[in-house]
Amino acid sequence: MTQVAIASHPVAMSERRSDHLWRPYTQMKLAAPPLEAVATSGSRIILADRRELIDGIASWWTAVHGYNHPHIREAVGDQLARMPHVMFGGLTHTPAERLAARLAVLLPGDLNHVFFTDSGSVAVEVALKMAVQFWLNRGVQGRTRVLAFRGGYHGDTMGAMSACDPDEGMHHRFGAYVPAQIFCELPKNAEWEAALDATMASHRHELAAVIVEPLVQGAGGMLMHPPETLATIARLSRRHGLPLIVDEIFTGFGRTGTLFACEQAGVVPDILCLSKALTGGTMALAATVATSEIFSAFWSDDPAQALMHGPTFMANPLACAAANASLDLFETEPRLAQAEAIREQLTAGLEPLRAAKAVADVRILGAIGAVQLRGNPDLAALKAAFVEHGVWVRPFGNIVYLTPALTIAKDDLDRLIEAVRGIVSGLSV
Ligand SMILES: *Cc1c(COP(=O)(O)O)cnc(C)c1O
Repeated sequence: MTQVAIASHPVAMSERRSDHLWRPYTQMKLAAPPLEAVATSGSRIILADRRELIDGIASWWTAVHGYNHPHIREAVGDQLARMPHVMFGGLTHTPAERLAARLAVLLPGDLNHVFFTDSGSVAVEVALKMAVQFWLNRGVQGRTRVLAFRGGYHGDTMGAMSACDPDEGMHHRFGAYVPAQIFCELPKNAEWEAALDATMASHRHELAAVIVEPLVQGAGGMLMHPPETLATIARLSRRHGLPLIVDEIFTGFGRTGTLFACEQAGVVPDILCLSKALTGGTMALAATVATSEIFSAFWSDDPAQALMHGPTFMANPLACAAANASLDLFETEPRLAQAEAIREQLTAGLEPLRAAKAVADVRILGAIGAVQLRGNPDLAALKAAFVEHGVWVRPFGNIVYLTPALTIAKDDLDRLIEAVRGIVSGLSV
């Protein structure tokens, strides 16, 4: 089982630290050296010094079936032996054909046209491009901006970043390089609903689309909203003739308790983005899925009306094989029931933290449990404390959260919850 050998934590790591790697969101000069992972299994990350950490965040929300699921490994192994990759221009293959057809069945409404890319940010870029070109192909000029919501996160590439929260989203640093979008509050009350309605009315001539994360704004702070808020956005978008892009990159594949979050609001968007858990956390893959109405604007005798995008590794067969195997597991194993059991366990375990001095809020939705702290916690110290407790939990901003694999064992989730409770209730404000 887990060995938490803090005292014997070797310093060898820093000697082995590469001088060549540039790490994510990391001030290279100040950051503690990363831990070296050598293997994964189920909900465990095994480090080079043989410690095992219980993973509370499923590798940035991807590994919904736990690590190294034998069914996915086998599917990727078979595909690797047959055809690891082939270009997608002029060629097709069963893994991609099958995956697209299955996604079309699983997704609500007539979201039937699947464009594969290799990361969530690029899936959002494609969605934005699709929306802009949709209008151009219909002969409408000038509709090049998107309406996005405060608190949102849609990725790190320039177009996706432009739709992220304007204060948190690094816009000030990149200035004029980031296209200026239009931002509203999520319509959580009548006043904000009226404001959204008015903004849509006054800007519709320049808007290509509306983009939103359904039910939970993840990287923006695990900010949750009820299905009615999403339904309101969909209704107002329709009223003003604006295509709705729903970014399910975090929420897709069971995270919020249903296979897709938009189901809970009965909303069928015009364009939907998927990535993170699409391959069960094994390979980079993303999809931008459009309705027949969007697709029909590109269906033409004019070659210039084709969707102008095509990543080199588009529809990589290995990644598609992994995603097909992941969908098999959603069919054969009780993932949504597991998400519900996690919700109950998170609720029972984390809700009592509301009484803690350092806690401002506790939010639970499906298999997501978030504790918002007061003030600005020392993130480096928090992260180190979690590792000392034998768990892998990565707070950001003032949020400590758990998004474990949907397959996590009850005891492992108890240990994660215990670690959060122990560390958070020990914080002074
Ligand atoms: C992670 C995320 C993205 C970006 O995906 P990458 O694969 O990191 O580019 C976009 N939107 C949402 C909602 C996300 O959670």
